[in-house]
This record gives sequence, structure tokens and C-alpha cells, in this order.
Amino acid sequence: MNKKNKIIAIEEHYFDPDLTKHFSKGDSLPIELQKQLEDVDELRLKEMDDAGVDVQVLSHAPPATQCLGVDSAATIAKNTNDRLAEIVRTHPDRFAGFAALPTADPKAAAKELERTVNDLGFKGAMIHGLTNNVFFDDKRFWPIFERAASLDVPIYLHPGPPHPEVVKAYYQDYLDDYPGLLTAAWGYTVETATAGIRLILSGVLEKYPELKIILGHLGEGLPFLLWRIDQALSRPGNKPLSFRDMFSEHFFVTTSGNFSDPALLCCLQEIGADRILFSVDWPFVPNNPGVDWMESLQLSNDDKIKILSGNATKLLKLG
Ligand code: MN
Repeated sequence: MNKKNKIIAIEEHYFDPDLTKHFSKGDSLPIELQKQLEDVDELRLKEMDDAGVDVQVLSHAPPATQCLGVDSAATIAKNTNDRLAEIVRTHPDRFAGFAALPTADPKAAAKELERTVNDLGFKGAMIHGLTNNVFFDDKRFWPIFERAASLDVPIYLHPGPPHPEVVKAYYQDYLDDYPGLLTAAWGYTVETATAGIRLILSGVLEKYPELKIILGHLGEGLPFLLWRIDQALSRPGNKPLSFRDMFSEHFFVTTSGNFSDPALLCCLQEIGADRILFSVDWPFVPNNPGVDWMESLQLSNDDKIKILSGNATKLLKLG
């Protein structure tokens, strides 16, 4: 790319100290990462400039407001979103925001989504895995989907910690040596892919046909498995469902933390360049490798422009 393409990254995290004090102790991170997450000014902008990232759409890091109980969730989420709006206002040409929603109180969450989009200019919301160990497709959460569809903003399904029983049965014996197995290496992926599959099975996408869902990490493995899931769900005994079509019509994927040529090629073949958006997953993943990878790809410049900024501009109504 000789002339620099605009770069918008849409799964870029921060920490709000007034929200993170509600996280359980087990969620603490290395000090350097903590510093990067808490910086919403000079350090962050410098790292963006060094890599050529023009805009970060900011979202709180997991578990965000999904760790809160019904009594406090609505107030804490509102204050967190108000502070995020302040951060965006300090650099409106460099930052945009995804809302943190008080999912423990679904009606309040729907209202908060509407407030943050209409009053604060947010671009959608990010949900981090389970709320009180319940998957997001549960009917109690449908008011949130109804509001997202009517506001025409996407919901970003981001990983959160797996269910405690799953941790015990599937991962616990390896976690002393490989704590990453629980999160980005595998646990997060399985959890979020399952959330995506369940959303399609739930019927919520038929009920709200305008609903748009974003998955990070090049689709959490689902593009690679679409054909097989679709074929297996069409065998006798299953209710009729066009799984592959539903995924391709409602889901978008981002490149966050998965700068893999073969994985991207699979996404291009399954859902096409119009549904792939650039992301880094900063600061869990550094900016430079993501930008360098995009530059090295054997893609037409038109497709690169779509992935780097065009699709985000359209989907999130930026600029
Ligand atoms: Mn992330």
C-alpha cells in the first residue's frame, strides 16, 4: 500500500477503574497490560500512531458489566458509559465507543443501549459471554436484541469466562501450566462460538431480521465449520433451518487477534469481504503485527479498504 489506507480497529479495549474494582480478584492482569488498558490518551494514541491505526472503537475489557448483579448493574453501566463518552469526546477523531450493558437487568440494558446510541453517539454494544452463567440467547435478553434491531446498531459478541462447571470438567487440570487455555487459546473460542450457534438456533434472528451480530477472532472458528454445522443440522430429526445462510446474512467477523492467512481466506470464501472488519484486540495483541499483516495480504486494494475501514464506516455509521 503506497498511499496509506485509513485504518479503523473495532475490538480495542480499555479499563475503567470504577468498573474493574467490581471484578473478582482472579481477573487481575500483568501490570504492563493493566497500564495500557487504563491509558485512554497519550500512551494509547502513541501506539496507534506508531502502527498507523487512525481510529479505535473502544470497548471495556472482559468481563465488563457482565460480572455485575441485578441490583447494581444498571447504575454502574450508566456511569461507565458516561465516562466512556467523555473519553471519546477528548479525541473524537480517534475514538468511538461500544456500550457496556447491564445485562443482569435486560430491560434496563435495552434502555441503556438506546440512551448510549441516541444521546452519547455510541456505535453499538459489546457483550462479554455469560451473564450470571446464562447464555445471551435466552429469551430474557431479547429486549436487548429488539432495541439493537430497531436502533440499527450491531451487538458485538465478545468472549467472557466459561461456565464454572465447564472450567472444572474441561480445563482445570491444565490451567496451572497453561492458564491461556481457559481464555484466548481455546476456552474463550468455544464459549463464544457456542453463543453464536445458540443465537441462530434461538429464533431471535427470524424475530428481528435487521439484527446484526459481530464476532471477533475471525468468527471464533465458525466460518471454518459452517458447512459441517449446516449439513449436520439438516439431517433427519432436526427442525428445518438454514444455518449457513443465517450466519452469512446476520454475522460480521473481525480480524482481532487472529492474523492468519488461511483463516482469513476461509472467511472470504464463506461470508465475503463485505462482512470482514479489521480489529487488533489491543492491548492483548499489539497493533503493529495486525497492520503489517493487512499490508502483506494478497488482496485487491478495494477489498483491503473495505476490511480496514469501509465496512466499519458503513456498519457503525462512522464519520
Ligand atoms: Mn477482545
